[in-house]
Amino acid sequence: MDASLVSPVRVAIVGTGHVGATFAYALLLSGLAAEIVLINRDAADAEGEAMDLAHATPLLRPARVWAGDYSDCASAAVVVVTAGAAQGEHDSRLDLAEQNGAIFRTIIPQIARNTTSSVLVIATNPVDVLTYATIKLSGLPPTRVIGSGTILDTSRLQALVGERLGVDPRSVHSDIIGEHGDNQVPVWSLATVGGAPVRVAAASLGIPFDGSTEKELARATREAARRVVDRKGATYYAVATGIMRIVEAILRDQRTVLTVSTLVDHQPGQESICCSMPAVIGAQGVHRVVQLPLNADERHALRRSTDTLRKATTTYDRL
Ligand code: NAD
Repeated sequence: MDASLVSPVRVAIVGTGHVGATFAYALLLSGLAAEIVLINRDAADAEGEAMDLAHATPLLRPARVWAGDYSDCASAAVVVVTAGAAQGEHDSRLDLAEQNGAIFRTIIPQIARNTTSSVLVIATNPVDVLTYATIKLSGLPPTRVIGSGTILDTSRLQALVGERLGVDPRSVHSDIIGEHGDNQVPVWSLATVGGAPVRVAAASLGIPFDGSTEKELARATREAARRVVDRKGATYYAVATGIMRIVEAILRDQRTVLTVSTLVDHQPGQESICCSMPAVIGAQGVHRVVQLPLNADERHALRRSTDTLRKATTTYDRL
């Protein structure tokens, strides 16, 4: 085959702090990308990260890693955005909307001007508000903009349930939907372990598991980021792995169902927002959203979650 017909798989990463650099390392280890371009307001930081990663390539799989600019997004299959301030000890994620919203107003138009068919994956917080802002600022079809959303919270809850039941967390299915933040919604009514409803599975394993267990694990999940930040100042391994999972689903067109932030159906008389739902992710971005048969309590909690996000999204829109 004529070598010029082969286009190397390129992933661009905007923001090379804790999350961006950790994701770049995970991507390099995966061998999924032939080209990794790092873009940062602090050019020296991006250069240092690119050099450090490039020095590892002889021990891994060949990949070209360099510090670039927005023109390098041109042939990227995926652009991952992690630029912006992180949550401090006392901030909620929604407190970051103004500061990171201003950053997005400068970077998203530059990405959009340079991309042809990339899928954008957003991780900067508040991720739901900024996923919505990215759709508006980029003019891209909403299906090509994905927020990492509650993929991280779902993973955290799965880890906790697996630990409690003494089973591999990959045997647990327990989604968190709605806001990636304080109003996240655990969908206990549909949680399963090895195909059995979670409480039935727990009973057969001889482990107590009732409403108070669910409350306890949901709270630990909701407060997980703060607990990590209190101890080490930032969270990045788990989120970078979540971003990696989304990027893998895109690059391999896996059609994986993941809880990610996406534009939810416009309700008559209400502004659209982005929030997390189980969505089928493949090469074109979000293919479909899976509708969940929630119980009344979960529907109520999801309404509270989307109302909070609608307020935050409308406030961002007015800024
Ligand atoms: P960090 O401070 O370590 O890194 C942020 C990076 O963004 C820095 O390298 C900075 O130079 C860069 N940056 C800032 N403004 C820029 C601009 N205009 N253009 C290009 N680059 C710019 O922060 P972090 O810990 O990596 O967190 C990054 C973001 O990810 C934060 O908003 C944080 O809240 C969020 N986060 C999200 C999740 C999630 O689940 N979605 C989890 C953890 C962190």
